[in-house]
Amino acid sequence: MAISGAGKVAVVTGASAGIGYSTAVGLAEAGFQLAVGARRKDGLVKLVEDIQRRTGVKPFAESLDVTDKESVDAFVKGVVSEYGKVNVLVNNAGKALGVDYIDERANEDDWEVMLDTNVLGLLRMTKRLVPYLVESGDGHIINLGSTAGHEAYAGGGVYCATKFGVRAITGALRQELLGKPVRVTSIDPGMVETEFSVVRFHGDTERASRVYEGFRPLTAEDVADCIVFAATRPAHVNIDNIILKSVDQADATRVARKGQ
Ligand code: NAP
Repeated sequence: MAISGAGKVAVVTGASAGIGYSTAVGLAEAGFQLAVGARRKDGLVKLVEDIQRRTGVKPFAESLDVTDKESVDAFVKGVVSEYGKVNVLVNNAGKALGVDYIDERANEDDWEVMLDTNVLGLLRMTKRLVPYLVESGDGHIINLGSTAGHEAYAGGGVYCATKFGVRAITGALRQELLGKPVRVTSIDPGMVETEFSVVRFHGDTERASRVYEGFRPLTAEDVADCIVFAATRPAHVNIDNIILKSVDQADATRVARKGQ
């Protein structure tokens, strides 16, 4: 039975595009009050208008860079002063940069940004919001992992390390929050067509579109559906983990593409 989000506040990081955007829309349609953040203002403005048009309710939206402690502090302060509480934290902000092998050619700046965003950024948000999630009496942390957190592949060593890390953090949080009213979930998708590959290839849209050529990848809405499902179970039901992939994807490297 789906439980309405009415009276509950959900925070979504990385909501200016892709999975975060669709998740914010899905949670708002399920009745949650939304607080959304990302670095790009234009994506947030579009999201606010979209949610307001669909639900009649204006979400809290502020710029957020999860790699910047001051930005995280200011965002959390803003959410708490707007709503006074937080029930759900969707740690979605994240990225892969490059497909470098771990050799002398690898771009170390990319490594640092991936680790800072996907691991430390998620930790910064979680650390600050855990007290509010506990206090809410019905809290929920939903982390965006990946199939890359289950299986490493060549050229994905550091991205995979960040998502293996997210899986470790999710597991540790479930132990640490045992006995407290906070559920902990990991949503782990395979290939989803979003801006993910454009970001990975540093803006090379042609190369990015080749990633999804000849098969039907997941959409951001497919992943958002799973997040909304987890968030709308009764308070005693913890969805530990959902791994979802396109029917055309078997693992990190095996994809059934037409004509191949
Ligand atoms: P996307 O379309 O590139 O969206 C990423 C979102 O994260 C954007 O809203 C971006 O907004 C935000 N973001 C990036 N850096 C940020 C920062 N420092 N602070 C705050 N927000 C930041 O990618 P996506 O596919 O939706 O990815 C969302 C999550 O799903 C990521 O954690 C990713 O690892 C995971 N995932 C994706 C796939 C896939 O195939 N697409 C598969 C498995 C898991 P700004 O640029 O405006 O900050």
